[in-house]
Amino acid sequence: MCGIVGYIGPGQAAPILIQGLQKLEYRGYDSAGVAVLDGDLITIKKAKGRLSVLSQKTDGGRNLSGNIGIGHTRWATHGAPSDENSHPHVSQGGHIAVVHNGIIENYKKLKESLMAKGYAFLSDTDTEVISHLLDYYYCGNMIDALVKAINRLEGSYALGVISSYHPGEMFAVRKDSPLIVGLGEDRNYIASDIPAVLEHTRKVYLLEDKEIVWFKGNEVKIFDIDKQEVQKDIFHVTWDAGAAEKGGFEHFMLKEIYEQPSVIRDTISPRIRDGKVYLDDLKMTDEDIAKLSRIYVVGCGSAYHVGVVGKYVIEDMVRISVSAELASEFRYRKPILTPDDLVVVISQSGETADTLAAMREAKRLGCRVLAIVNVVGSSVAREADDVIYTWAGPEIAVATTKAYSAQLQVLYLLSLYLADKKATITEAEHKKIVAELLSIPDKVSAILKDVTLLQEYAASHYNAKDVFFLGRGLDYCLALEGSLKLKEISYIHSEAYAAGELKHGTISLIEEGTIVTALATQRELFEKMLSNIKEVSSRGAVVFAVAMAGDTDIASEADTVYYIPKTLPVLAPALTIVPLQIFAYYMAVNKACDVDKPRNLAKSVTVE
Ligand code: GLU
Repeated sequence: MCGIVGYIGPGQAAPILIQGLQKLEYRGYDSAGVAVLDGDLITIKKAKGRLSVLSQKTDGGRNLSGNIGIGHTRWATHGAPSDENSHPHVSQGGHIAVVHNGIIENYKKLKESLMAKGYAFLSDTDTEVISHLLDYYYCGNMIDALVKAINRLEGSYALGVISSYHPGEMFAVRKDSPLIVGLGEDRNYIASDIPAVLEHTRKVYLLEDKEIVWFKGNEVKIFDIDKQEVQKDIFHVTWDAGAAEKGGFEHFMLKEIYEQPSVIRDTISPRIRDGKVYLDDLKMTDEDIAKLSRIYVVGCGSAYHVGVVGKYVIEDMVRISVSAELASEFRYRKPILTPDDLVVVISQSGETADTLAAMREAKRLGCRVLAIVNVVGSSVAREADDVIYTWAGPEIAVATTKAYSAQLQVLYLLSLYLADKKATITEAEHKKIVAELLSIPDKVSAILKDVTLLQEYAASHYNAKDVFFLGRGLDYCLALEGSLKLKEISYIHSEAYAAGELKHGTISLIEEGTIVTALATQRELFEKMLSNIKEVSSRGAVVFAVAMAGDTDIASEADTVYYIPKTLPVLAPALTIVPLQIFAYYMAVNKACDVDKPRNLAKSVTVE
């Protein structure tokens, strides 16, 4: 999820690795490490914390000798940030060293089978299965071992590999995690992103999934999974380093919006097997679930809005009473909690002060706390009874996009899991929703493929003074988040309203030219929404509607309609949020706002 750099050439590897990793620091990380190969000797140095800690330990890499090496910045997904869990990880016997970005979904099964074969594990990471698996399959040819290992690995990975069996060589491969090859004159590189090599070369190979790269001396060969050599075109980088850090996107926020298909896939697919949801990390027993009488979902900002979706979805699927709570209110309002209640806290950073305090209050009152968190080893993750991680990777833009989407996915998984345990939906319904959930990443990709309508709409409406977001049911929950996104980054005043509530006061604010974003993805409430649209447009509002593909009746009521791909209404929020993020983004860009760092806002709110 974070950074990989590899080097092979005439110079000393470690200083180049550390400098390269510095260029990837923007990606966020919690620990770092390098392995260098000198003849057949592998030396490894790793440390929890900033890269400067590793740099101090190694005198900027200068006290490590070797012309070949792999370096890593880790953003923990499996196992807390620690020296032991930092990469590189070595095989039993120490002959093979591996750095890995990504998530091995089937690591548990692989770990069990490797342990049964006598492999001892030294870390809690999923990565360590890779080094042992390579050792297990190694019979004198590393490409063969890589092919065999890859055929066993499920999930996402970018790998850099060195081995004492192969002095003078380096190996790399990727699947669903970024990795490029940098081509120098007499030296070559691997890196998770172009900025890490830009100071050395502008010539790169962009790797496809499961392409295996073999470096020896200054030779580079690429093989496909059938061990056939692949001829690749050289890609010439023309961007500057700043733009490259953002992967060519103008802002981190846009980059993170575009990362959503893979983030959603990483978050859901390891937890779905044979059409069913498994939450292996939960310690909550079936008995605990049977006793559950009430659920509180607690968060701040966008995480609270996920909680509001949770209220609708969990109540619908699990038939248990749910209340969505603002952490800053919940912590002080003397909530009435019993030990049979479950408190679900949601936080990207896991350090949000109000959420942490709300969680401690819930625990003090004897409740079980389940945390939905993005940062492994964070305070919320450490103190909760159960944790389900969102594997969104580090989020840099202050306004959340991909973390919100990942939290939403976890809520769907949790709802399906509880519904299954409590038998409140049939097996057929469960399977139908799970199958549709698995199609969400592709549907989000489809939305992202063409955003022209949203761009054009923003370009002609960014001078708006007020924007109203209306919706019913789940669309109301999305109106809350769409409105927040817009005001956070574009500084345009905005209100989110349950569409049926408008006429109880707020409709007096609608005047000629007021922009109304009307969300109408919920079939059961569609006709009601059409009436609400009529109410505002007859008072002069300019209506931008979001509806589901096929619901074309709306075209005659709204001024502009954006159609999301068809999906089950319960899952529509996972798609509806994407055009709302893009709309907010382009409104802010047109207003020349500082999109990634909006005024007065902080990414991790560690104060009350
Ligand atoms: N899943 C691996 C770990 O937790 C790799 C994380 C990363 O991509 O940095 O160690």
